[in-house]
Amino acid sequence: MDLVVRVPHSPRPGETVLGGDFETFPGGKGANQAVAAARMGGEVTMVGRVGSDNFGDTLIQELVENNIRTTYVIKDTDTPTGIAMIAVAANGENLIVVASGANYKVTEADVTNARDIMRDTDLLLLQLECPLEVVTAAVDLAKAYDIPVVLNPAPAQPLSQSLLANVDILTPNETELMMLAGENTVDMAVEKVLSWGTKNLVVTLGANGARVVTEGVDKHLPAHEITAVDTTAAGDAFNGALAVAYAEGKTLLEAVEYGMAAGALAATRRGAQPSLPTRDAVENLIKSSHI
Ligand code: ADP
Repeated sequence: MDLVVRVPHSPRPGETVLGGDFETFPGGKGANQAVAAARMGGEVTMVGRVGSDNFGDTLIQELVENNIRTTYVIKDTDTPTGIAMIAVAANGENLIVVASGANYKVTEADVTNARDIMRDTDLLLLQLECPLEVVTAAVDLAKAYDIPVVLNPAPAQPLSQSLLANVDILTPNETELMMLAGENTVDMAVEKVLSWGTKNLVVTLGANGARVVTEGVDKHLPAHEITAVDTTAAGDAFNGALAVAYAEGKTLLEAVEYGMAAGALAATRRGAQPSLPTRDAVENLIKSSHI
């Protein structure tokens, strides 16, 4: 659950900033990406955990209202629902602190319990707000069933080469890419991650768009020109939309176009899940743009 306060500017260490009213929004990268995919018309099943508390109930309810199958979302009895404290500055930038809670109680068994649905799915989309061994188990299962895998490596952390080699599309932002590669420049990080066996690398660049690096292609796509109000979940919108388009058989570049349009639209509205766009809105933006 996202606990949000709008502030005139991001607080510096030691500084207290007086903000606006306190608001709560359903969030979490996995849930946001699931909702983004569902709004794009994808048939989505979520695997994860919430706590046995009000936030957990509200989050599951929100997934259900977005037509997401919640059979594999477990209510943990020992650990509270994960929360994020978010300060949104007037310039649209955000500052986030996460208490992972039940997200880090997801187990490999939770993943293997979902294998029947995994076997029948077109694509697996993951992020890193749950334990790495569980992410690895899910990717291994997807590979065993020959299902394409999209990994959004956020929050940033180092990943093994064997995991990266099993990922079909890796979608870091610049910070995550450099952290992942242990390099100080984007170019050096791109080279290193590719040398580790990543097949398709899509680096999201916020208001600068995205860079797509794949066999024989290294292309910068400029962003849609929009007025950013709150960039929370722009990356999640990007990943959910890209995943659905790719699962439908669109090319990587076409799928990135869907992602970029969804990310831009998400940045024009407040909050995480409330800001995620519909397929119609995404396709209208793609049609009206000159990218
Ligand atoms: P993250 O939230 O993971 O850091 P980004 O900020 O890079 O992800 O956003 C994902 C995508 O959304 C970008 O590649 C871009 O296409 C789009 N986007 C994000 N912010 C803006 C913006 N201010 N203007 C236009 N497009 C944006």
